[in-house]
Amino acid sequence: MYDVLVIGGGNAALCAALMAREAGASVLMLEASPKEWRGGNSQHTRNLRCMHDAPQDVLVEAYPEEEFWQDLLKVTGGETNEYLARLIIRASSNCRGWMRSHGVRFQPSLSGALHTARTNAFFMGGGKALINAYYRSAEKLGVKVRYETPVATMELDGDRFVAAITEGGERFTAKTCVIASGGFESNRAWLREAWGRNDLGEWPADNFLIRGTRYNQGALLKEMMKAGADTIGDPSQGHCVAIDARAPLYDGGICTRIDCVSLGVVVNKHGERFYDEGEDFWPKRYAIWGRLVAQQPGQIGYSIIDRKVIGRFMPPVFPGVTAATLPELAAKLGLPVDSFMRSLDAYNAACKPGSFNHTILDDCRTEGIQPAKTHWALPIDAPPFYAYALRPGITFTYLSLKVDETAAVRFADRASPNLFVAGEMMAGNVLGKGYTAGVGMSIGTAFGRIAGTSAAAAAQGRSLMRGKNYGRH
Ligand SMILES: Cc1cc2nc3c(=O)[nH]c(=O)nc-3n(C[C@H](O)[C@H](O)[C@H](O)COP(=O)(O)OP(=O)(O)OC[C@H]3O[C@@H](n4cnc5c(N)ncnc54)[C@H](O)[C@@H]3O)c2cc1C
Repeated sequence: MYDVLVIGGGNAALCAALMAREAGASVLMLEASPKEWRGGNSQHTRNLRCMHDAPQDVLVEAYPEEEFWQDLLKVTGGETNEYLARLIIRASSNCRGWMRSHGVRFQPSLSGALHTARTNAFFMGGGKALINAYYRSAEKLGVKVRYETPVATMELDGDRFVAAITEGGERFTAKTCVIASGGFESNRAWLREAWGRNDLGEWPADNFLIRGTRYNQGALLKEMMKAGADTIGDPSQGHCVAIDARAPLYDGGICTRIDCVSLGVVVNKHGERFYDEGEDFWPKRYAIWGRLVAQQPGQIGYSIIDRKVIGRFMPPVFPGVTAATLPELAAKLGLPVDSFMRSLDAYNAACKPGSFNHTILDDCRTEGIQPAKTHWALPIDAPPFYAYALRPGITFTYLSLKVDETAAVRFADRASPNLFVAGEMMAGNVLGKGYTAGVGMSIGTAFGRIAGTSAAAAAQGRSLMRGKNYGRH
């Protein structure tokens, strides 16, 4: 019998498997996907957010614990567990040495990459290279990996893990288990249930595109909920970005993101603006735009810019719709020209002169219109004009299993002795809503490593150190 069974094959699962193996445990990993699609959403990532008190290799200046914490507090509106969040933040300051020892390489942030040179360490070769490095290291250390092995159900004895049963009916026992099988973002039926119908009778989730893997169906989240595990978070909350409406249903990845929202205006299918496009820096706001578009009729929006801002943002892979005049642009997009022009004329007239500077919260703002644009408000008047249709792109869901600092799954507030959880399966403990770029990998790396350490210790009969610091405060 293996000491540790790890279910999942992304960053959190790999961190858990490597830590458990390094602690001397025998480890089997079960990954739902075929080998060529291994690595879940983690294969699409680019960076992780790291605390540091002084410049560190690829990171400039300092990003102290308190600033990281305040950023998280702000984006989540307080829906976070401070104790667990600070654990993750501190772990982010010293995990890179360990990551390097398993073959991960870092590079400085590129200009245009969401102003992240200070806060985020970029993976050389992206998430795919990180995943491949971890798999290579895991295999070298003797971790056994089975692909195309989706786990369907869990056999428990009260709060104790006994075995995992695969879709194919195979039964895997182990002394301990780490579940790191992602959220339920790829499960359209569950998303539909979570989002319900809007006032127009539409099912918004029917128009969501899934930015990452198709394999995160939430089967084990549902399974654990049925078994009575404690959960945290709202099923409709998640990381949801406005992406190119032409993106494929799955695995469109990072290149489908449209990053010019704060440099122009966004209208809905009636040609009307609906939110302050310049509310804050794009890295702090990009993750609310998926939700904003999801709340619009038909779940579609259109980002409109002009020539002046070309070169100021990372251009999308595919060119937008272009026109020499704004009415022509509206017509090409199939939008009602009259109301589109009313919105654009009102916006252009409301832009007050200021000193445009996209690297600070500048003083270019509108006056006298609703919604206001509070920064970077320049009239859209320099042809050619460009438009990108936007759809909600779901990255990952936040409904999670509740954990303590050992990553143990909890049943009626009692910690399981041998069942642990990491990554998206528990991210909702610190992300009740909102997002700040790179924190998904910080959570998965910190808790993957904790879960692997705990699972190995439990398998080896060592007791786990545990305080009373769980639940939100
Ligand atoms: C396009 C994109 C870009 C992103 N960029 C970043 C970024 O730059 N920085 C950042 O911090 N975060 C980023 N994220 C978020 C990040 O991907 C996640 O926070 C993180 O990867 C979660 O890791 P995980 O191991 O929990 O899940 P995943 O990496 O999704 O792994 C889940 C694994 O479980 C497997 N699985 C699912 N169900 C089962 C089952 N029943 N049985 C067995 N295996 C199963 C899946 O196949 C998959 O391998 C991005 C996400 C996307 C989609």
